[in-house]
Amino acid sequence: MNVFELDRNYIAPTYARYPINIVKGKGSLVWDDSGKEYIDLGSGIAVNSFGVSDDEWVKAVTRQLNAFQHTSNLYYTEPCALLAYKLCERTGMKKVFFSNSGAEANECAVKAARKYACDKKGKDYYTVITLKNSFHGRTLTTLAATGQDAFHEHFKPLTGGFVHCEPTAEDLLKTAGEHKVAAVMFETVRGEGGVLPLDRSFTEAMVKLAKENDILLIADEVQTGNGRSGELFSYMNYGFTPDIVTTAKGLGGGLPIGATMLGEKVAGVFTPGLNGSTFGGNPVCCAGAINILDRIDDALLASVREKSEFVFGSLRGAAGIESVTGLGLMIGIKTEKPARQIVTECIENGVLVLTAKDKVRLLPALNIPFEQLKQAIEILKKVCAEVK
Ligand SMILES: *Cc1c(COP(=O)(O)O)cnc(C)c1O
Repeated sequence: MNVFELDRNYIAPTYARYPINIVKGKGSLVWDDSGKEYIDLGSGIAVNSFGVSDDEWVKAVTRQLNAFQHTSNLYYTEPCALLAYKLCERTGMKKVFFSNSGAEANECAVKAARKYACDKKGKDYYTVITLKNSFHGRTLTTLAATGQDAFHEHFKPLTGGFVHCEPTAEDLLKTAGEHKVAAVMFETVRGEGGVLPLDRSFTEAMVKLAKENDILLIADEVQTGNGRSGELFSYMNYGFTPDIVTTAKGLGGGLPIGATMLGEKVAGVFTPGLNGSTFGGNPVCCAGAINILDRIDDALLASVREKSEFVFGSLRGAAGIESVTGLGLMIGIKTEKPARQIVTECIENGVLVLTAKDKVRLLPALNIPFEQLKQAIEILKKVCAEVK
């Protein structure tokens, strides 16, 4: 059996895969088993922050692999302690809990918020408000947090205590008035929901509400974090500081890691035994993440913003394109043709792009060479313009 047959026979069919078998890559180029080359504008869904098999990252990871690949959270290890320090230094957060995915990072955030609210305001204050069209993960709790009914079907009962509101000041205040609220959890740019940035008027109302009622703010930066937005974390574009920041995807540069960063208010909620993870803070993943984080400096962030301007400028108003939304190198494109058709035609033309609901979505590596970005955007424009 070839790969396609093996996969079809033995992999649980939860993914609608495109028919290409990736066998190698370098930077923002990947090759399939027929030797065909693709420019990758998806970077493994915002994971490969510095592209595929980046030399420096590989070196950092293999150095750690040659030292030791895993111990357990019963002992101290330098990569995880150092990564936590660097994350706190760069964000002003106080403590970090490491896990292995975005969903787990969010689970930890919800646990921290509930513990804080219970200690501070009483056990009835457990409700977490999240946004309609949000995405927070696939576990039963993070599905409950996800504000899209389509994801809830078939899996009820989900974890209780979540309500969803529109990202407007009016709906937020109304919803908060109807519940005993522990926290508001949000993506500054709803990624899976269609690459939709929040309005300032909403974030300002949210910050005010939180301050006046001792409600915690949880920024889900699983997709928006780690330089993707043109700032280290996307909330930094909005001029406020959340109480809890979660991240995953791009932090490890290709290895699984989740991080829940706890600010001043919640820094003390966890005591030994209240949370844990066998793989969390794995030294190899953390060594890779340190390398990634160190390289997301001002120069890189400036280049992300510059590339972002180029993409927005090229696509806005182009033939077959109805709208372009997003922030930094997280870009959603409403096309006249169905998004999945655009993806398929881009594949035929040697470019990998993603979708988000009914939109085409771009999440290129932060260091994609300008020439490759230009070439890929030209191909995407041609595909969007062609009537087929
Ligand atoms: C991808 C994503 C998640 C889930 O992350 P996993 O690593 O797949 O568990 C959660 N929140 C947001 C905003 C995401 O984009």
